[in-house]
Amino acid sequence: MLPSAAGLEWPEFLPGWVWLAGAGPGDPGLVTLHTLSALQQADVVVHDALVDPRILNWARGDAAIEFAGKRAGQPSLKQAEVSALLVERARHGRRVLRLKGGDPFVFGRGGEEAQDLLAAGIPFRIIPGITAGIGGLAYAGIPVTHRDTNHAVTFLTGHDRSGGIPSGIDWPAIARSSPVIVLYMASKHLREIAGHLLAAGRSSDEPVAIVCRATLPDQQIVETTLSRIAAGDALEAAAMAPAIICIGNVVRLPAMAGWIAQGAAICEIDGKRRTG
Ligand code: SAH
Repeated sequence: MLPSAAGLEWPEFLPGWVWLAGAGPGDPGLVTLHTLSALQQADVVVHDALVDPRILNWARGDAAIEFAGKRAGQPSLKQAEVSALLVERARHGRRVLRLKGGDPFVFGRGGEEAQDLLAAGIPFRIIPGITAGIGGLAYAGIPVTHRDTNHAVTFLTGHDRSGGIPSGIDWPAIARSSPVIVLYMASKHLREIAGHLLAAGRSSDEPVAIVCRATLPDQQIVETTLSRIAAGDALEAAAMAPAIICIGNVVRLPAMAGWIAQGAAICEIDGKRRTG
């Protein structure tokens, strides 16, 4: 199924190697050809919860599919346990595909796993993926940069290892210097984050888009404002996991609403609500 071309050779997945790959935000069409090639060769696929089952179906029929993510109500593997699993499988001479949602190096702990593999002497390859904060927003008609609105964008995680908002974030500096802020894993602390940004001087009517299950057939977009979030609005929408949140004027660019991926639903908080 991989295209061929003169001078193009797909890398061979050698036994004992780990390939650390991104699966994109959900729509299987956003998987890269290298990740597809990896799926077609791997003996073991170790995936997290964000990887769409349709993508896992592209693995070899006899490949072992192992889940190593968080699942509600069940204890999840600790990071060290996931790395140990990868090392163990590779040492047994398996071709191990570690498949993560989006891009493995964007809030995906891919860097930590790569360090652990290096420390264990396991050879590995990194395959980047389309991250939710860019590709997922694109499916909602939101370009993360636009010359009319922003020359910079900040990607921020809504919680750190402890589960709280990452400490040490300089909210005034971000509020001042980053016209567009993209929040990952922020549903739980969204109200608090909006409060920080307002206190740091961001405008109360600044547009915010909450894009749930971006790029999937049941994608939902909720548009609101910073002050409404600070007042407790739209939090229900943000709780529909996974949600990527974009703050800034790229959210309401004129004429962009026309480009919404098929099947997407738009809800407008603030009285007007439409789905379709
Ligand atoms: N490595 C991933 C991010 C992992 S952190 C990437 O590059 O996209 C998990 C967070 O990613 C979720 O809490 C959510 O904020 C975001 N996310 C991932 N997939 C998403 C999707 N399909 N729709 C909306 N948000 C998504």
